[in-house]
Amino acid sequence: YPRPMTPHEAADLAKGAAVKAADRAHVFHSWSAQELIDPLAVAGAEGVHFWDYEGNRYLDFTSALVYTNIGYQHPKVVAAIQEQAATMTTFAPAFAVEARSEAARLIAERTPGDLDKIFFTNAGAEAVEHAARMARIHTGRPKIMSAYRSYHGATATGINLTGDPRRWASDTGNAGVVRFWAPFLYRSPFHAETEEQECARALQHLEDTIAFEGPQSIAAIVLETVPGTAGIMVPPPGYLPGVREICDRYGIVLIFDEVMAGFGRTGKWFAAEHFDVAPDLMTFAKGVTSGYVPLGGVAISGAIAETFARKPYPGGLTYSGHPLACAAAVATINVMEEEGVVEHAARIGSDVIGPALADLAERHPSVGEVRGLGVFWALELVRNKATREPLVPYNASGADAAPMGAFAAACKKEGLWPFVNMNRTHVVPACTITEAEAKEGLAALDVALSVADEYV
Ligand code: PMP
Repeated sequence: YPRPMTPHEAADLAKGAAVKAADRAHVFHSWSAQELIDPLAVAGAEGVHFWDYEGNRYLDFTSALVYTNIGYQHPKVVAAIQEQAATMTTFAPAFAVEARSEAARLIAERTPGDLDKIFFTNAGAEAVEHAARMARIHTGRPKIMSAYRSYHGATATGINLTGDPRRWASDTGNAGVVRFWAPFLYRSPFHAETEEQECARALQHLEDTIAFEGPQSIAAIVLETVPGTAGIMVPPPGYLPGVREICDRYGIVLIFDEVMAGFGRTGKWFAAEHFDVAPDLMTFAKGVTSGYVPLGGVAISGAIAETFARKPYPGGLTYSGHPLACAAAVATINVMEEEGVVEHAARIGSDVIGPALADLAERHPSVGEVRGLGVFWALELVRNKATREPLVPYNASGADAAPMGAFAAACKKEGLWPFVNMNRTHVVPACTITEAEAKEGLAALDVALSVADEYV
């Protein structure tokens, strides 16, 4: 297995310029005004680092798009992909194939409750699409409920279920979607002062919304177990058990979207384990292969699988359970077991990242709140700790977003690649980050936060 080039070996200004020029000429980038972006040309990556063609190396606090849970270029996963490519690169979904059966078994054994069947997709949004479809057919009801401050993907149903501004431009009206507020004490939609109050009011609000929509019209409630992109808002302990109870009472399917929170990110295989709740359907993607080959899926409970035991499930994908992706999943899960990756993520979160971030919050006037668990943390940057006024307005762009731009630039100057969304920065490195690497990144964050402090 050839090692990736080191930053020194990769330094090649002419090649970097050529990569960049072709990108600028022909690649149409996600979520971007094409002429206002300046993508970094990346030459290589290994572990928690990546580097450009100029020899600059960055510590990645984003895990790409929060998916390289075992870091970049793990040799065992690379080797498994190479071996699968050499023996059976692809085969159609209707056949039983070793890599696919084995991936399904390993995933089903780790999912909570009786989620024993796996429908494979290529990514997260497709998993959400199919979970919604399964719930609608299973219940014979039309509506899906989803939370504000959520993200569920950029396909038709995924974007409709999404509760953030990325939905606005392509919103197709309600399309069978009903939104509600989930708990978030720091910016409480319920004006609550304690976590218990927030939890009780959020559950009452959900129940009232169901009553006024008509319980018999609601197929499913979909929730990110720990909402990710919208701000890593760990729910109060009683919330998800309360939602489970409401779903059971009204015959509503409970879908947990664990696309971001699953596969070790929260220090458990799945975030649902923290709350001792099992959903009826659970979506996953990202960490299942650490993103080495795209893969997602829906884990399905016995009762919902039963609906499709003697009548066909009306849905499929050409590449469902692609052997190359499934081989990557098998290798990733085995690496996570062999190297104790999930336990490591829990420990590095509770012993290193959590305490260090709490210390940053004490010392920096711009840090309003720190929250998270495992390798899944958010810092809420504010102009004023008392009023909690965000450092930049909600959904700010251009000059309005400048303070967060200055903060991000300061991180990069320190060799740290930060995740920035609205007024938040998320600390979401690989689950495999070492204590020394985490401390290096946190020290860089400390320096960069002084830049954010200037706007307070
Ligand atoms: N659900 C959640 C919770 C996500 O975080 C994401 C991606 N960030 C998606 C769904 C969509 O996944 P994908 O981009 O792989 O389609």
